[in-house]
Amino acid sequence: MNVILLGPQGSGKGTQADLLAERMPLVHLASGDVLRAARASESELGAEVRRYYDAGELVPDEITVRLMLAAIQEHLDAETVVLDGFPRTVEQAQALDAALAQEGERIDSVIELTAPLDILRERLAGRLVCRSCGTVYNVYSNPPKVSGVCDVDGGELYQRSDDTPEAIDRRLSIWERENTDLVSYYQGSVGVDEVDANRSMEAITDDLESLLRSRQASLT
Ligand code: AMP
Repeated sequence: MNVILLGPQGSGKGTQADLLAERMPLVHLASGDVLRAARASESELGAEVRRYYDAGELVPDEITVRLMLAAIQEHLDAETVVLDGFPRTVEQAQALDAALAQEGERIDSVIELTAPLDILRERLAGRLVCRSCGTVYNVYSNPPKVSGVCDVDGGELYQRSDDTPEAIDRRLSIWERENTDLVSYYQGSVGVDEVDANRSMEAITDDLESLLRSRQASLT
């Protein structure tokens, strides 16, 4: 089953995909993680990704689609793949549909996490990430026990280079611009289920799990 989690930055797509993975077998593929790995490389590709990523702009479709399709290709045999942050544009969605069709696969479920913009800004501005294990904290709502130190492995916590106020505003306005068309695209095919992401983590995970389990049951 191939699932797309839609939703603005800060809606908790990545956190929820990880929580879901504790309840059911799934592979979580986040475009942000794939692009951050590319960004870190000392290559022309790395420099190109850095230019867009650090400004909070979308990385060009040609690069994003190539890297994400390669990552998806590695997990075609997984029971469930959850895509987070990809596709972000209708062009990316069309490229994804075409690539999946070639493999006899399709998108089976699209779920959109929704939350008010002021909540998203606060979540992003307060976000801290562990440099070694990637655990995500929030200085306001989910602080680490010791300031600046990861509870899980003691790693150093840092603020992402695109979680500055300017980049956050740019990213959220790009999201607003692209999301309407993307949602219409999927409403015209597989449909889009909405989940209110301005609730407790557990309530959100419960809703996502029941949507995925009922979709899974309808496919078998
Ligand atoms: P995220 O971790 O999803 O907030 O993504 C961080 C940054 O990675 C974005 O601001 C973009 O620069 C880039 N990015 C992530 N996903 C995509 C995508 N599907 N298309 C283009 N750029 C992306």
